[in-house]
Amino acid sequence: MNLVMLGAPGAGKGTHGNLISKKLGIPKISTGDVFRHHIEEGTELGLKAKEYMDKGLLVPDDIVMDIVDWRLNHGDCHKGFIFDGFPRTIAQAEHLDKILAEKGEPLVRAINLEVDDDVIIDRMKNRRVCPKCGATYNILHIEEEICDECGTALIIREDDEEHTVRKRIVEYHKKSQPLIDYYEEQGILFRVKGNEGITHAQEEIFKDLEK
Ligand code: ADP
Ligand code: ZN
Repeated sequence: MNLVMLGAPGAGKGTHGNLISKKLGIPKISTGDVFRHHIEEGTELGLKAKEYMDKGLLVPDDIVMDIVDWRLNHGDCHKGFIFDGFPRTIAQAEHLDKILAEKGEPLVRAINLEVDDDVIIDRMKNRRVCPKCGATYNILHIEEEICDECGTALIIREDDEEHTVRKRIVEYHKKSQPLIDYYEEQGILFRVKGNEGITHAQEEIFKDLEK
């Protein structure tokens, strides 16, 4: 079961990706998490990615593709995978298609989470993340700013500052929105409304995957 999640920053790709990952027993691969991990470790790659991320820009395709190649050879993807935040450009999508064609496996679905821009900006103001495991929370829905999964104190992600969020949304419309047509043409796009509750959207996603 090879899946990708599409949607603007803050649309809920991470949250849905985690739930799908647990339910189907496939790894969720977040390119953003991989970059943040490298930044924390202070690797060369991390330094390079940070330059772009702090400005709300996309990390260049060649860097992203290297990471994806490495991650897909990691050995835990034999039952499939769900990508969160990849692909974000047509070139990345074509790269993924090429890898899958070599393996003789199809991409089953591109799940597109549709959320209005103003809802996103509002959500990002209230978003907190776990620096250890990457889980995300909305401060309006929790009592303590501590991670449920691992007990770590939550933080505000550096690029969740409002003017960076606005730039990420512009970047999304420019570079990532064309992916919707790309997957629609392949007949594997599934649109789901991300404005409403998580449970409702999950039900819709699983109803579609059972088809
Ligand atoms: P969000 O979906 O909320 O934007 P992510 O963690 O997916 O959060 O991404 C954070 C940042 O990491 C992006 O703004 C971008 O700079 C970089 N990034 C992550 N994935 C990719 C990708 N596939 N291509 C280019 N840049 C990426
Ligand atoms: Zn955690």
